[in-house]
Amino acid sequence: MLNSTNNINIAPYFNLSEFACPCCNLVMLHPKLLAKLVELRNILERPVYINSGYRCFEYNQKVGGVPNSYHRIGLAADIKVKDINLIELLEICENIDFNGIGFYEKKNFLHLDVRPTKRTRWRE
Ligand SMILES: [Zn+2]
Ligand SMILES: [Zn+2]
Repeated sequence: MLNSTNNINIAPYFNLSEFACPCCNLVMLHPKLLAKLVELRNILERPVYINSGYRCFEYNQKVGGVPNSYHRIGLAADIKVKDINLIELLEICENIDFNGIGFYEKKNFLHLDVRPTKRTRWRE
């Protein structure tokens, strides 16, 4: 059954379907990204919502992602956590040392990635 596709628990509190592209169900997820998200979940002791994980080419275009987005190759996730200040969440993520962190103040989420290149931070 299609609805069961990707319905696989890949870590405590994380299911592969949460990382799948919403338009086509395709998914790529790097184990390093997952490990860091598990670390974050363990520190927070509350749910980490994946707003956006893997994105296929079309979906990435649709949401206005940059063409070479790390979402395209399973290295990035946009996350949201309830009842925590975004600055406080950012500090925790800094300690976990995600290589890329985008701080989206108005939309109230963080972009986290494990890019292989140099440490990058930005704010919107
Ligand atoms: Zn898609
Ligand atoms: Zn992102």
